[in-house]
Amino acid sequence: MIAGIVTGAFLQLIMPNGSDLVIPLYLFDFSVRGFFVDGVFEVIGQIFVASLRMLVVPLVFVSLICGTCSLKDTSKLGRIGGKAIGLYLMTTAIAISFAMSLALFVSPGEGVNMASETTFASKEAPSLAQVLINMFPSNPFASFAQGNMLQVIIFALLFGIAIALSGQAGERVAKIFTDMNEVIMRLVAILMNIAPYGVFCLLAGLFTDVSLKTFGNLLVYFLVVFFALLVHGLVTYPVILKVLTGLNPLVFLKKMRNTIVFAFSTSSSNATIPVTLETATKKMGVKNSIASFTVPLGATINMDGTAIMQGVATVFIAQVFNVDLSITDFLMVILTATLASIGTAGVPGVGLIMLAMVLEQVGLPVEGIGLIIGVDRLLDMTRTAVNVTGDTMVTLIVGKTEGEFEKDIYLDDKAGTQIEEIDFHHLKEQ
Ligand code: ASP
Repeated sequence: MIAGIVTGAFLQLIMPNGSDLVIPLYLFDFSVRGFFVDGVFEVIGQIFVASLRMLVVPLVFVSLICGTCSLKDTSKLGRIGGKAIGLYLMTTAIAISFAMSLALFVSPGEGVNMASETTFASKEAPSLAQVLINMFPSNPFASFAQGNMLQVIIFALLFGIAIALSGQAGERVAKIFTDMNEVIMRLVAILMNIAPYGVFCLLAGLFTDVSLKTFGNLLVYFLVVFFALLVHGLVTYPVILKVLTGLNPLVFLKKMRNTIVFAFSTSSSNATIPVTLETATKKMGVKNSIASFTVPLGATINMDGTAIMQGVATVFIAQVFNVDLSITDFLMVILTATLASIGTAGVPGVGLIMLAMVLEQVGLPVEGIGLIIGVDRLLDMTRTAVNVTGDTMVTLIVGKTEGEFEKDIYLDDKAGTQIEEIDFHHLKEQ
């Protein structure tokens, strides 16, 4: 990750403002941007993200079925779901309330006078009824094909419950899924081999063109969001974790490192699911019966980092357009942002689409998004890192309080860090 950022910064130095460096060679002109940024970095980076995303649907489906049918008592599911959803909503509400208070205090939009350069097409906020209806698939294969995670989760839960209730036939099917789970986890391990190159290429490409200097008026906005994200990740989460579980939060943060790097470089909680799931189970000791449910659920409905950006952005845009927000407006923002996050998946840039819904609810001009879009890429990366940290923390809390947790693994520094040796030789022999 660091090598990628340094390489990108260096390339930016020699090719400022999106320019190219062309080196005339004997037979042809060599374009540094064309070869590296638009070539190698783009290709490897995108292949890396695609291969992570490729794993998400099969992994979630199979491991969630294994998780559900291994729960001794399936009525526990309701309680686990309630706890997870309650915690997800609570942390999101805390995040956005804190972000808005901070933004009101710093006033990043005061005195900023700028015309928005980009137009932004808004979308209507889905109604709560629609969100609930949409969770249930009418065609599970369509849900797989579209990667609609909430629908995949619901289908897998029902399927798992049915397996658990089907006696011997259920046991036979469960065995197949347990074996499949092994195979898919192995596939995750195989693809993790390209992760360092993928992360390097994504970040090198990105940092070639991103520059803090061009932020100008938006620097204060950027810093407020960034600071709020840091506080939420490094103070609020550790405090919640300590209070609700008594576990040492430093161990948690240390074990989150890898997952954070993935989230940061892919900007997608969804694509990071395979890594988050591994971290929660192998490094932190939460049983798969809990993590296979709460991790994908969190990646879909829990977006604290995104809520923070939305809180600050709403205050910023209101200030730029000289609109006074009432207390009711604030409560409305908190409510809409929290609910909007349920219906939208964790993919890059989705936070801005949700922001459009929030702005509309309180009558702020949606064009305001055009003002902040320029600095959103870096913030997207950072808030995704916060989002996955929140997912993992809630998973840990639910696992610990349900007794589906092994403390020895949590305390073991080395747990889950051994790189699995993959022996390709016998494949060749075959
Ligand atoms: N990229 C974020 C995520 O995947 C969502 C967003 O804020 O745009 O969690």
